Amino acid sequence: MTDDQARSAEIAEEIGKRILAKEAAPTANPTTPGQAVVLVKVADAHTRLEPMATGVVDHVDGAGTVHIRWDPDGHVLGLIPGADEWRELHPRWQATPLVEVKFCPHCKRIKPVEEFALRNRGKTKRQSWCRDCINGTKKEAPRG
Ligand SMILES: [Zn+2]
Repeated sequence: MTDDQARSAEIAEEIGKRILAKEAAPTANPTTPGQAVVLVKVADAHTRLEPMATGVVDHVDGAGTVHIRWDPDGHVLGLIPGADEWRELHPRWQATPLVEVKFCPHCKRIKPVEEFALRNRGKTKRQSWCRDCINGTKKEAPRG
């Protein structure tokens, strides 16, 4: 190997390290509800999930387990930071544009924020229940 070749190999290795560091650092194990993610590594050998599976973060429980709704059927499986590994899924990899979403505790679904009516008062800008649930509750309310 000539000096030039050795130097080229060194530079290539350095670039590779930088790319890996940059990719892993800001996006490792995201926990924000609504964030699209891709599975990198799962510790549980019995799961049907495989690396490259995609999903959306649902919530984080008291034990720190990150519950994710997995494609294509939305089944929820929790991942454990440290044991499992997942990454933020870049919006350009998704077939549909990334939209802001919100969890409705009544129907237990994640919906686009537009599905939640705006309100004038309160801590948050939008109703906590989606329009369907609010309308449904009104209709179901006993009459008289
Ligand atoms: Zn709802």
